[in-house]
Parts: sequence; structure tokens; C-alpha cells
Amino acid sequence: MNAPRELVIIGAGPAGMAAASTAAGLGVDTLVLDQQPAPGGQIFRGIGQAGPAHLELLGSDYQAGTERVASFVHSSADYQPDTAVWSLGADGELGILQRGEARMISARRVVIAGGAMERPIPFPGWTLPGVMNAGGAQVLMKSSRLVPLDGVVIAGSGPLLILLAWQYMRAGVAVQAVLELAPRKNLWRAGLRLPAALRAGHYLTRGLGYLLALRRAGIRVTYGVSDLKAVGNDRLEAVTFRTGGREQSLETGNLLVHFGLVPGIQLTEAAGCRHQWNDGQQCWRPQTDAWGNSSVDGIAVVGDGAAIGGAVAAVHAGCLAGLEAARALEHIDAAERDRLAVNDRQWLQNDLRIRPFLESLHRLPETLLSGTADDTLVCRCEEITAGEVRAAVRAGHRDPNQVKFITRCGMGPCQGRQCGQAVANIVAAACDRPVSEVVPFRVRPPLRPVSIGELSMLESGNNTA
Ligand SMILES: Cc1cc2nc3c(=O)[nH]c(=O)nc-3n(C[C@H](O)[C@H](O)[C@H](O)COP(=O)(O)OP(=O)(O)OC[C@H]3O[C@@H](n4cnc5c(N)ncnc54)[C@H](O)[C@@H]3O)c2cc1C
Repeated sequence: MNAPRELVIIGAGPAGMAAASTAAGLGVDTLVLDQQPAPGGQIFRGIGQAGPAHLELLGSDYQAGTERVASFVHSSADYQPDTAVWSLGADGELGILQRGEARMISARRVVIAGGAMERPIPFPGWTLPGVMNAGGAQVLMKSSRLVPLDGVVIAGSGPLLILLAWQYMRAGVAVQAVLELAPRKNLWRAGLRLPAALRAGHYLTRGLGYLLALRRAGIRVTYGVSDLKAVGNDRLEAVTFRTGGREQSLETGNLLVHFGLVPGIQLTEAAGCRHQWNDGQQCWRPQTDAWGNSSVDGIAVVGDGAAIGGAVAAVHAGCLAGLEAARALEHIDAAERDRLAVNDRQWLQNDLRIRPFLESLHRLPETLLSGTADDTLVCRCEEITAGEVRAAVRAGHRDPNQVKFITRCGMGPCQGRQCGQAVANIVAAACDRPVSEVVPFRVRPPLRPVSIGELSMLESGNNTA
């Protein structure tokens, strides 16, 4: 292995780009790795190829990425795209996959800025062709200009639902309905958090603007929906659901679902960072301090991978982690770090004021998180149903890792990334315990599929960075 790099940042989204530009600007030798072919992360996906019409269609939050990406590209950080990190040790050793070769590299300090993933929730029919994640569909629109040609139903909960409906409407897609699965009582809980949310700036007015535009276009947004089912034989034919005590059905060939975002914790789990349950966001998150430092010395976590805060918060948290890296690597002292951090701290605090409101508004009911029917597939890779998970619990395996051992759920190619949270919810409900008390799946490298051919490069000694 070559000499350790001073700083390796995993992820070139808003958080990683900001951390890199800040640290590199202070003289830190900074390497940025991202599995995508271009910088920008999820929100700014495909921005390098976006022409004026596409930028206009996707809205002002997307347009803001042009400047962010440009300032990162012009920084002195060493950026390596198409590079996936498949292992991370507490000692700063990373396994990376680049151009079909696996290599090991090491870093004195690591910043994980790997972002979030859409919360997978198994519900009847979710594996039918024609059902996909709303965020995944948005990625296709951003990166390949692909949109559904016939009608589409969008269902779930979270700000992305309304945003995607608005973007699709502008792209000429026929949005048949938007179904909000958060209970109506959430409105009251959220109302209590409204005064603080109003101080967070433009978020509420922008959201209301999207809703008004949808209403003007005659696109129906239905609240208080439950019992969502995707129905069809070989592919999706209809969506059924309950609202106002009545069962309804909509014929459609496309159902896009989104149940909010959760931090991607596979890297932090692999590195042995301590995690905690975040009740507001209904998910686990790595423990971090105000600079993003995790419980493992030399490893920081920022952006949506630390806790869901959105792209603006990710930028400020990234800047703070960049400053902290420069201090830890002795390019600046603590007093200089603190002086440079004042604005980002203030902006971060301001921006996060919207979160309690959004978390209350989009809080998902337990019935949705853990109550799916016994015959619903939970682990798609190993084809394990909710009923099989419950049967394992009844047989005395009252922990997700024991259930994994007995049923093989979470042992497929995605290594439990997709089913881990759902299995934890189902196990907790079956044991009548809060989910915060169960231990999530333990993560082992490789975090993503690596072929023997790719791994053989390690054996041959061709393993330098
Ligand atoms: C599918 C999806 C769509 C979204 N769309 C919007 C939107 O339209 N508007 C909006 O305001 N917010 C959107 N969000 C939320 C928004 O993306 C985040 O708030 C923001 O991008 C967080 O920035 P980040 O830098 O923390 O993470 P991200 O932007 O997610 O960046 C993380 C980066 O890390 C890389 N990465 C992760 N793991 C590895 C690994 N093991 N090896 C190498 N690279 C890795 C990823 O490729 C990615 O580029 C979306 C989120 C998702 C998941």
C-alpha cells in the first residue's frame, strides 16, 4: 500500500464536496472517492450535462448545484469518480473498487459523506414490475431524461413526493394521483412546530407553491391514505388504498413510492462507529459531535449519512468537517477552526429549524412500518416473507441478527441494505419491544458485490492507490 493520504472523503454530494473544498483550501492533501461518474450526489445528479431547459424544469434547488459543483471541481482536492468503497476499517484502511480492480488504500482521517437512501417499506405488491422508488425514478429523469410516458401514481410520505409530482407535471407526465400515507393527526403535531419552521426560510413557501401548482393543474393530492396495495398479475395493473373509511382503486401501470430518507449506515457500521436511534426520523444514525466526529477516532460522518438534514445543511456540516479535518491534521489550530466555523454553524442551526416540523408532518404509522401482511416479501434478494420473519421470532429468535442467521434474510447481494430496517421493525413489533431496543443487522465487508476477479488484484500485489 502507498503512504496514507491525509484525508479521504467518501462521497461527492453536497456534504463531501463542501468538506473537500474547505479542507483542500487549507492545504490538506484531500482525496474524494465517489461511485458515481460525476460529482453532485443525489440532489445534483447529472447536473454537468444539464442544459438550460432541463435546469429550469427541475427547479431552483437543483440549479444551485451548478455553482456548488464548479467550486468543488476548481478546488485542489483529488477527485476520483467511478470508485466504490466496499470496506472501511476503524484504522482508516479502505477497500476500493476502481475500473474493475479492488485495491486497499489508507488515510490518516476519513470523512464519510455517503448520504441517505430511500426508506424501503415492504407492502403488498411492492415487488411487481411497474412499482419503483420515487427517488430512483427522479434519478432517471435527472441523469437520462427518462420519464413514464403513461400515467403515474405517486404514494408514500415526505417532501420528495410533492417535489417529484411537480417536476413530472412540468415535464408533461400525467400524474394520476399523489397519495400521502402519513396520518391526518400529524397535521396537529406539525402545527406545534410551525413557528420554528417559519424561521427556517424558504422551505414552507416553496412547498406550498408546489402544492398550489399541482392543484391548479388538477392533480389530486389525497391525505390520510392507508392500506396501500399494488395489484396485478405479471405487472402492476392498479393501486388500491383506503381513505375516509372507503376502499378505492386506481388503474395504473406505474406506482412510485417514497417513505422518506434514512442515513446509509453501512460504512459507519463497518467501521465500528457507535449508532443511536433517532426517534424523530424513525431510524438509526451514527453518533456524532458538532464537528461530525464519530465515536471512532479519525472518522467523521456528515450530511444525510449522519442524520437527514437536506442539501443546504449538508453543505454547512461538510464545511465544519473540513475545518475539523484541517485542525486534526495540524494545518490550522483550534482557535482558527472556531473562527472560520462561525457562519457555517449559524447557517446550519437556522436551516435545521425546519426538521422537527417535517419529521412530525411525515411521521409514519407503526402499522405501515411493521404491520405488513405475512405473505409480503421483505428480503427481495433471498425471497423471505414477513411471515417467515415472524415465525423465526415465534421460534425464539428475538433479534434481527438471529433471524438473519436462521432465515438468510439480509444475506443477499444488497447485504441487508434494503431489508435491514424493515426486519428490525417487524422483529420489534413481534417481540412487543420498541425498535430502538433491537440491534440492527451487523455489517461485514464487502459492502457491495465484488467479484473474485476484482479481488484477485489484491493477491497479485497490484493494490496501491
Ligand atoms: C434518490 C434521492 C433523491 C433525492 N432528490 C432530492 C431532490 O430532488 N431535492 C432535494 O432537496 N433533496 C433530494 N434528496 C435529498 C438530498 O439528496 C440530500 O439531502 C443531499 O444530497 C445530502 O447530501 P449528502 O452529500 O449528504 O449526500 P448525497 O448527495 O447522497 O451524496 C452521497 C454521495 O456518496 C456516494 N457514495 C455513497 N456510498 C458510497 C460508497 N460506498 N463508495 C463511493 N461513493 C459512495 C454517492 O454516490 C453519492 O454521490 C434526494 C435523496 C435521494 C436518496
